[in-house]
Amino acid sequence: MARLQSRQISQLHLYQVLHAVRLAQEPVSRAEVGDITGLSQPAVSSLTRRLLESGALVEVGARPSQGGGRRERELALNPDHAWVVGVKVAVHQLTVALCDFAGGVRNTLKVPLSSPMTQAALVRVLSREIEACLAQAGGTVRQRLAGVGVALPGFIDSIRGEVLWSPVLKPNRNKEAAPLDHALTEAMGVPVFIENDANMLALAEQWFGQAARVANVAVITLEHGLGLGLVLNGELYRGHSGLAAELAHLQVQRNGLTCQCGKQGCLEAYVAHYAMARQAQASGLIAGYDTDSAEGVMAAHAELTRLARQGNAAAREVFETQGSVLGQWIGNVVNLLAPQLVLLDGDGTSAADLYEPALRDAMAQAMLLPHRTGVQLVVRQQGDEVWARGAASLVLQRLDESAEVVESVSRHGFESENVGRRPDA
Ligand SMILES: [Zn+2]
Repeated sequence: MARLQSRQISQLHLYQVLHAVRLAQEPVSRAEVGDITGLSQPAVSSLTRRLLESGALVEVGARPSQGGGRRERELALNPDHAWVVGVKVAVHQLTVALCDFAGGVRNTLKVPLSSPMTQAALVRVLSREIEACLAQAGGTVRQRLAGVGVALPGFIDSIRGEVLWSPVLKPNRNKEAAPLDHALTEAMGVPVFIENDANMLALAEQWFGQAARVANVAVITLEHGLGLGLVLNGELYRGHSGLAAELAHLQVQRNGLTCQCGKQGCLEAYVAHYAMARQAQASGLIAGYDTDSAEGVMAAHAELTRLARQGNAAAREVFETQGSVLGQWIGNVVNLLAPQLVLLDGDGTSAADLYEPALRDAMAQAMLLPHRTGVQLVVRQQGDEVWARGAASLVLQRLDESAEVVESVSRHGFESENVGRRPDA
């Protein structure tokens, strides 16, 4: 028992060192790793030696030491230590990103997708396109693939690896079917992790983007659906079931419009692309689109945007209402969680000129007075590669957490039964 505990503590400390180097985003000294982790210098030296021997870390450059004495070699991640793949599954498109161990994107691939589809069909298309992305990169990348992360819209139980509901998948009537992560692990021969897409964008932002070093961030994604990912106290917040932050499905109207999640009156059913397409079609503003299909919704949304930009008053009003409803909700999210930063992203931001003024007005009105000067809202569109990179980061996080497994990646390949286990599990 005592031996097991000391092994777990050692693994946790390896994780802390690796993670400190990862989040530093630039080479760091052993002394800085000690400051970040709170570990003693002898402990940091011993742990970094193990990580250097395994190839997870490398020594780079040197800065003059503060006392003017000997120069210290700094620590960085070894990008070639392992390869991971991240995928963003959107209702209309699949984006695959091949990343190195440092999270650098080495190759990307984008293909159209026609959803909803069966889980078996999704597994087939994912395997095929991931293999294609790996083949493009060539070399020994496939043999050294350590894992795959898949970001999907919908209710994802990331702890059990199950999709509870996603607009990408047809309802699963076959309860015998393996969870998606198992089916993909079987198909790919490496561990596969699945997670909600907004959470993955939040992780990418925390590791590489605007949310780096910001402790509390709300990432809102406006696309075919509406999503929310939360970083609270520096950690991605998943809640007990992995289903936290589903505030897009906050009921704003009893017996209201039917949401794609199956519930009535969700906020999403009033502001997402499909909601706007349905409203515009119901009022006769546009006609002839199949608003039950992803392609139909995308085309209808594009037409509505075009009409609004041409000055069509009714179309402009649809966007202004969207901004106003969304802004009020964001203001309330701020009241609940007090983030310093709110990021609004997703392909819906390409029409931000049509709703952002109304959104900012409504958000300011809904927020507590002290938040009005303290919270920053950034509206932008980063592209699906960033989401896919977030999904790859999830795999890197799992690798870091299984630091002893990381040590064996390059020597023995990956042991899938150990990887999903977290130090705290
Ligand atoms: Zn809903």
